[in-house]
Amino acid sequence: MTDVARRADPPERMCPSTPAANATVFLGMITPAGRVAYVTPAMPAEVALAEAAASDAPVESRYRLAGPCVTSSCGFWTGDHCGLGARLADSYQEVVAPAEVELPKCAIRRTCRWFAEQGAAACPACSHVVTDSR
Ligand code: SF4
Repeated sequence: MTDVARRADPPERMCPSTPAANATVFLGMITPAGRVAYVTPAMPAEVALAEAAASDAPVESRYRLAGPCVTSSCGFWTGDHCGLGARLADSYQEVVAPAEVELPKCAIRRTCRWFAEQGAAACPACSHVVTDSR
């Protein structure tokens, strides 16, 4: 067996803030305080989409959805990483050191694009993100 054949495929990275059309995982709900209440264990996106169908508000304003990272098909992709994840981690690190914060219990940490690239600094910022904040 060659080295190439032995090497495992890298895990598919998940975008933790994706539109409904790309969603596969129901990541969390936006609380009245604007924070994310993460759903664990992982639930399919269809659960959130069915709940949201009764409302006129965009589903992305009430729920956080995750789905496969689409890299160069996304406006935040820089060519080699997610620019949104980097920006969020940078802005939050100015407020509080990530080491001081307990990481939220989310269902996608193992494959999350932001966590893979920014480490624990991404997670406190993530819990403030509303995908559609119109
Ligand atoms: S940034 Fe952190 S909290 Fe948010 S989805 Fe990724 S691993 Fe989970």
